Amino acid sequence: MTPDIPDTPDIMARADATIAATYKRFPIALVRGEGCTLTDAAGKTYTDFLAGIAVCNLGHCHPKVTAAVTEQAQTLLHVSNLYYTLPQTELAGWLTEHSFADRVFFCNSGAEANEAAIKLARRFFYEKGQDRYRIIAAEGSFHGRTMATLSATGQEKIRKGFHPLLKGFDFVPFNDAGALRDAIGPDTCAVLLEPIQGEGGVRVPDPDYLASVRRICDEAGILLIFDEIQTGIGRTGKLFAHEHFGIVPDIMTLAKALANGLPMGAMLAKEWAASAFGLGAHASTFGGTPIVSAAALATLTALQGENLIDGCREKGAYFKERLTWLKDRHDTVLDVRGMGLLMGMELETEGDTVVTAAMAEGFLINCIQGRILRFAPPLTIGKAQIDGLIDCLDGILRSDRCLTK
Ligand SMILES: *Cc1c(COP(=O)(O)O)cnc(C)c1O
Repeated sequence: MTPDIPDTPDIMARADATIAATYKRFPIALVRGEGCTLTDAAGKTYTDFLAGIAVCNLGHCHPKVTAAVTEQAQTLLHVSNLYYTLPQTELAGWLTEHSFADRVFFCNSGAEANEAAIKLARRFFYEKGQDRYRIIAAEGSFHGRTMATLSATGQEKIRKGFHPLLKGFDFVPFNDAGALRDAIGPDTCAVLLEPIQGEGGVRVPDPDYLASVRRICDEAGILLIFDEIQTGIGRTGKLFAHEHFGIVPDIMTLAKALANGLPMGAMLAKEWAASAFGLGAHASTFGGTPIVSAAALATLTALQGENLIDGCREKGAYFKERLTWLKDRHDTVLDVRGMGLLMGMELETEGDTVVTAAMAEGFLINCIQGRILRFAPPLTIGKAQIDGLIDCLDGILRSDRCLTK
């Protein structure tokens, strides 16, 4: 135990008394991270198969990111976007060079990136003198918690109690191109989709779905926006998940892993779309601030330099094979799905008990939608660590608590 760190009950009691009670927290306080390992206030270590929810793709406290942040912190933390800075310029250069996009708008979170995309889609048709403002999104989607982004989120539990929502969102079933085509009206401006639904349950569409959506958007003359906040930055075994499907969107949003743990969001767009955001159309005080941009640039160059995306495909395939082995052994496992190192395992029973049992054995995993275990480890995870988790889950699933429906 580290002597100068308060103990877990103390931290918990003070937090529970003062922090808004919006999160159901597990009874551990994390104090340290290195690579795929986290340490709690009691000195117990955990192998992290969540990585801050697909945030720390390089692992915790990656030395290159830490060095870039340290150096930038000693040079220039923040200046207004009224001035040019080198870190933001270099980051925008990297992102446009490695994607379909020509321009980047920087902000501080996923929700803000989607806000920017929603605003750009509306402004794009306004500039053309057309009254198109409706956006089609998918049932089961997740796009954030601000008023516009929860209005775009196809999950009632997230929207509940916040009405009236922002007008102009229509919902269609995910992975149904026909339903999407039928939903397009004269005032539709855009389609907003996650290439793989994350919070909705790690749902991977059919291989031709996104290409069909692309064609439908082109025919209708509307914008295609991909929310790659969870799927981007190498998570699925490509820099961006849409690369698996052989098409590109017109607008893409990023956040989560972009700066490996520092808060950053970005909206990327083709020039012809981005040009609808003229002077003063949108802004963010902290967007692309030097310290965060330096972290993002270090993240992306390390991702590339350490060949982590190829490694993600390989380790993802191994992980899927091992999860499928679990599925074959346990009737309670109904499905295994995902791409790269974003994996889901659907159970017949409640997932919370499995998460708690795994935590006791030193593995952090996550449960979404009640019955779906989600795994999003750092892309640096090792095969031995994957085997360790599989053995742990095998034991938990074999025990009585998971056999009862
Ligand atoms: C996490 C997430 C968001 C919201 O990001 P925040 O940074 O929490 O605002 C939006 N879309 C997707 C797909 C996400 O996974």
